[in-house]
Amino acid sequence: MVLINGKTVSAEIRNRLMQETAELKNKTGRMPGLATVLVGEDPASAVYVRNKNKICGEVGFQSFGQNLPAETSEAQLLNLIKQLNENEEVNGILVQLPLPDHIDEEKVLLSIDPEKDVDGFHPINVGKLAIGNALLTPCTPTGIIALLDYYEIEIAGKHAVVLGRSNIVGKPVAHLLLQRHATVTICHSKTKNLKEVTRQADILIAAVGRPHFVGSEMVKEGAVVIDVGINRVEGKLIGDVEFDPVAEKAAFITPVPGGVGPMTIALLMENTLKAFKTTL
Ligand code: NDP
Repeated sequence: MVLINGKTVSAEIRNRLMQETAELKNKTGRMPGLATVLVGEDPASAVYVRNKNKICGEVGFQSFGQNLPAETSEAQLLNLIKQLNENEEVNGILVQLPLPDHIDEEKVLLSIDPEKDVDGFHPINVGKLAIGNALLTPCTPTGIIALLDYYEIEIAGKHAVVLGRSNIVGKPVAHLLLQRHATVTICHSKTKNLKEVTRQADILIAAVGRPHFVGSEMVKEGAVVIDVGINRVEGKLIGDVEFDPVAEKAAFITPVPGGVGPMTIALLMENTLKAFKTTL
C-alpha cells in the first residue's frame, strides 16, 4: 500500500508556483493578486481565509483580504465584487462560503467575472468544465487529479466511482475524471446497492461528509482510495474512509488529514496564476 502524501505534493506545487511567479515578476514587473472576501465571523471560515492569504504571501502573490461584518447587505457585497472585477491588480476573487442567510449565494457567485473565478463555481466555468475546455476548475477536485498524476496512477480506462454529487466536489471531480477517460459512476444517497457499486471501483473517491462511511467491505482489493471527507468528531479530523481496514486492501490511499486537504489551497494558487497569465 502506498500512502498518498498531500503535504509533499502541495509543497512541490507551491514551490513551482513561487519560482514561476518570481520569473514573471522579473519579466513583467507585475505579480498575481488574489482577493479573498469573508462576510461575518464564522471561526472556521476565518481560519480558511487567513491560510489562503498566508500562502498567497509565501508564493509571492499580492493578497487583498476583504473582511466584512455579518450585517453587510447583498448590495454592498455586490458592489465590492464589482470593484474587484474592475481592479486590474486582482486576478482571482474568492468569496468564502457559506454567506450569511440574508445574502443570495448564487447571485453573488454569478456577479464574479468568470475570468477571475478561481474557485471555478461560476456557471460559465461549470459549463466549460462540462464541455471539457475550462481553464479554471474547482480546486479540491483538481487537487485530486494532481495527486493521481503525481503518483502516476493511470486514469484512462479505469472505473472511477465517485461517492457524492455536490457541486463543490462530487460533480466536478466526476467531470475531470471523465475528461481523463475514466469510466465514471456517481453515487449518492438514493443509490441502490451502494456496496456492490463501490466494490467495482478501480479508483474510489469518497466525498460524502460522513465519518468512516467507507468500510473495507465497500472496497475492491488493489483499489485507489481518495478520501475527501473532513469531519470534526470530538475535536479530531476524521475522513469518510475507515482508514486502517481499507488501507489493508487498497493499493493507494490518502490519509485525513494530510491527503486531499492541503491540495485545495495549492490549486487555488495555481488557478490564480493561470488567471494572471491570461492578462499578460
Ligand atoms: P455535501 O454534503 O454537499 O455532499 C455530500 C454528498 O454525499 C451528497 O451528494 C449526498 O447525496 C452524498 N451522501 C450523503 N449520505 C450518503 C449515503 N448514506 N449514501 C450515499 N451518498 C450519500 O458535501 P461536500 O461534497 O461539500 O463535501 C463532502 C466532504 O468533503 C465533507 O466532509 C467536506 O467537509 C469535505 N470537503 C473537503 C474539502 C477539502 O479541501 N479536502 C473541500 C470540500 C469538501 P445526496 O446528493 O443524495 O444528498
